Amino acid sequence: MNLIFASGNQNKVTEIQKIVPQNITIKSLKDLNFHEEIPENEKTIEANAIFKAKFINSRFKLNVFADDTGLEVKHLNGDPGVHSARYAGLDCNSTNNVQKLLKKLENVENRSARFKTVIALIINNKIQVFEGIVEGSILKKPRGDNGFGYDPVFCPMGFDKSFAELSLKEKNLISHRSLAMKKLIDYIS
Ligand code: IMP
Repeated sequence: MNLIFASGNQNKVTEIQKIVPQNITIKSLKDLNFHEEIPENEKTIEANAIFKAKFINSRFKLNVFADDTGLEVKHLNGDPGVHSARYAGLDCNSTNNVQKLLKKLENVENRSARFKTVIALIINNKIQVFEGIVEGSILKKPRGDNGFGYDPVFCPMGFDKSFAELSLKEKNLISHRSLAMKKLIDYIS
């Protein structure tokens, strides 16, 4: 089975390609020669995932899934959440986002946080949604060189390493995205 992953984020594509069994082939937007940014203006993570999947499905008429992810920090009442990508501003990068987050949590004891991914799948014109959550906490300083985004400051519960200190294989055993993706794989098989 061929599935399009509606993401321009190569880190996410690599993560997902390592999870799927051999009978599923994941093609990325790059494989479709699609290089536009898909708008992410919805109010919830779930609505963004659905929007992105519908956007690509209506353009290419192919089976497709899209993910949207947010980092929800308890002390910040769930922020940055759906605004995680542009937390530090429209033209910001992940380093800026992480710096803003660490500043907001300066001298804060309760550093509980969770990553939430919602994947929206459109297969034969039917939409199905899958959620994956991983609980953890925000470190005081970035650690590690693997991964992307907020990985260097997120320590999954039960570990004393950041996501960026884990190998891709280790992150994929526990991550929000892999949990949602495994539900998708169960559904289609
Ligand atoms: P989006 O799902 O691409 O909109 O991602 C929202 C924000 O969360 C972006 O800043 C990403 O870099 C970040 N992000 C998404 N997934 C992960 C992850 O698995 N680890 C760390 N940061 C992530």
